[in-house]
Amino acid sequence: MSRSEPCIAEIRGAGGILTIDLAAIADNYRRLADRLSPGAECGAVVKADAYGLGLDRVAPTLWAAGCRRFFVAIVEEGHRLRKLLPEAVIYVFNGVEPETAPDMEAASLIPVLNHPGQVEAWTARARASGRPFPAMIHVDTGMNRLGFSPSDVETLAACSERLAGLSVREAMTHLACAEDPEHPLNEEQLDRFRWAMETLAPLGPLRASLANSSAIFLPGRYHFDLARPGSALYGVHPQESGPNPMAQVVTLQGRILQTRRIDSPATVGYGATHSAERGIRIATIGVGYGDGYLRSLSNSASAFVGGVRVPLVGRVSMDLITIDVSALPEDAAHPGSVVELIGRQHTADDLAREAGTIAYEILTALGRRFTRRYVGGNTG
Ligand SMILES: *Cc1c(COP(=O)(O)O)cnc(C)c1O
Repeated sequence: MSRSEPCIAEIRGAGGILTIDLAAIADNYRRLADRLSPGAECGAVVKADAYGLGLDRVAPTLWAAGCRRFFVAIVEEGHRLRKLLPEAVIYVFNGVEPETAPDMEAASLIPVLNHPGQVEAWTARARASGRPFPAMIHVDTGMNRLGFSPSDVETLAACSERLAGLSVREAMTHLACAEDPEHPLNEEQLDRFRWAMETLAPLGPLRASLANSSAIFLPGRYHFDLARPGSALYGVHPQESGPNPMAQVVTLQGRILQTRRIDSPATVGYGATHSAERGIRIATIGVGYGDGYLRSLSNSASAFVGGVRVPLVGRVSMDLITIDVSALPEDAAHPGSVVELIGRQHTADDLAREAGTIAYEILTALGRRFTRRYVGGNTG
């Protein structure tokens, strides 16, 4: 069965079907790794259940594609990943607290240390265990979110005994505007990161990590030793313009539950926000914001039926959306017809634009309610 046409039996009873192309994820990993400057390693960010696509299938796929270093946001995600990949190097972006240090240690996770308090939490645990604990230092160069400030960096470099018990081999930072190659903050952050790496020289040789997906498409001086792409692995466009260099990963299809012809001018859906003329045909699909199809798509999204673009009309309900299928021949939209909500013709980036958000939010919102189908997998 081709990917774009799941058989109806597969989605009977399901609100929709989310198809994830694992071969495309592996392909994207290799494309990103190939783009990096010589000597730079490509890791993978699999936080938030691999951006909503399912850690259990995505992580082994990336491992098989050659990825050895993985990043998650929280300890619990690291634990799940450790069970899947016993040999992987796993970093936890949000770092470590005294409460999470035992779990961090138990699963051999590497915390990204974001502030001096996290250094204390991790060194305390290391002292208790009597063996060196690995850690990565996060330097804030302009996000003003997480990470060591310049003065923290200077203090750490001057008092490296604060890291006693730790084996710090890497330092990282994160760009605020990497998707815009012209943004002046990129170069400023690069300069500050170089300064921080020089300042931290007394700690011994450190590998540097800066690039998320978008920064891999900036000049090679942004690549450093270890890249951390997430979204581009999952097919999201890493740049603001031009054709998307990544392979399409996600397809979301719904099914028409009912169609109706509007006999006299009427409104559609909650709040009566859409007015339909006589003769308009409306199809109702079993997908809604309870599935992660964002309510902000009300009256603004489009979908594809048999290759034809049709508009979503009215509000998104919890379990339902309504589309205007008047442009289609009558026999093309009937109960059971498959509607493409995300796919080649209408990507997650397109849907994000219609929702006034970014594809990251679209993907991570696609909840657990859909039937998930994996294609192109060679693992499990
Ligand atoms: C999420 C995240 C990434 C991955 O970013 P993408 O834009 O999805 O490639 C990299 N680094 C940090 C610190 C992150 O939080």
